[in-house]
Amino acid sequence: MTYRRAGHSGVRLPAVSLGLWHNFGDTVPLEAQRAVLRRAFDRGVTHFDLANNYGPPYGSAERNFGHLFAQDFRPYRDELFIASKAGYDMWSGPYGNGGSRKHLLASLDQSLRRTGLAYVDVFYSHRYDPGTPVEETMGALNTAVRSGRALYAGISNYPPEQYREAVTILRELGTPVLLNQARYSILDRTPEDGLLDAVGDTRTSLIAYSPLAQGLLTNRYLSGEVPVGSRMSVGHFLKHEALTGAKLERLRTLAELAGRRGQSLAQLAISWVLRDPRVVSVIIGASSVIQLDQNLDALLGEPLSQEELAEVDALSR
Ligand code: NDP
Repeated sequence: MTYRRAGHSGVRLPAVSLGLWHNFGDTVPLEAQRAVLRRAFDRGVTHFDLANNYGPPYGSAERNFGHLFAQDFRPYRDELFIASKAGYDMWSGPYGNGGSRKHLLASLDQSLRRTGLAYVDVFYSHRYDPGTPVEETMGALNTAVRSGRALYAGISNYPPEQYREAVTILRELGTPVLLNQARYSILDRTPEDGLLDAVGDTRTSLIAYSPLAQGLLTNRYLSGEVPVGSRMSVGHFLKHEALTGAKLERLRTLAELAGRRGQSLAQLAISWVLRDPRVVSVIIGASSVIQLDQNLDALLGEPLSQEELAEVDALSR
């Protein structure tokens, strides 16, 4: 495993981190979850990314993780960097989502109960909430850190300007902030429109989620078929409409480029996101140990040449 420094901080994170958004809810056998978590840890993936509502159902990924943590990982707590988040839909009523102090701190307490952890390493505001003053949300992150429930604060899905504001407030409060978690892949380059600059200017780091575009940037759909059991076959978050003929052509050309580099498409997609030093880590998902291993082997690849980067540019825009 390669470890990279998160912003201007003492924390190093694995270049590839594991996310538990999918594949860790109650619809997946616990033994399959255990196998992926154990393999990840054995290969040096020290960072696991959770949130209050990962499942399905909501909360179940944290509960299942807590179960496996108690059985397998508790002796290794200090070798792990574990994240949780609050801000999206979690429970009913006016306090069940958003950026309020009420929501964030209640949700964090729930996350600690479900996981059985004494603290999380990083606690994120999961989304920018235009209805809540940024000061209030940052104040809640500050309390989370001051009270020992979290070691660091994190920000996810904020526009660049609001991110800059959030970091300024947290720093005024003396709250350590390391990470901006945002979607970034060959198929979604939105962070290049100001967010990566904000991350660089604030000496924090981007941690990229869905680097494989939920599986589109893998061999999963290259044949044009939707395999049974794939994320697209379930259809809630990755819709069949995403697989247009034009997209498929681009994916196949990218896969050819990957092949010339001796990589799979997934490995190329990971190498590409990690090319930017402002990105500390990619958070991948994996529904099997085979996928996980393949994705981690991306780190064995050569850096992309200028010619290869230009080819990706032509295919990604
Ligand atoms: P990816 O883009 O890595 O997609 C993962 C999915 O792609 C897998 O579940 C699997 O789907 C498929 N896949 C992965 N590797 C391979 C492979 N080698 N070959 C074939 N198929 C493969 O990431 P996610 O979208 O899962 O997001 C990763 C993490 O990022 C989440 O778990 C979460 O922690 C975080 N996240 C954060 C968000 C935020 O708002 N802050 C939002 C979204 C994600 P299949 O089931 O088809 O096998």
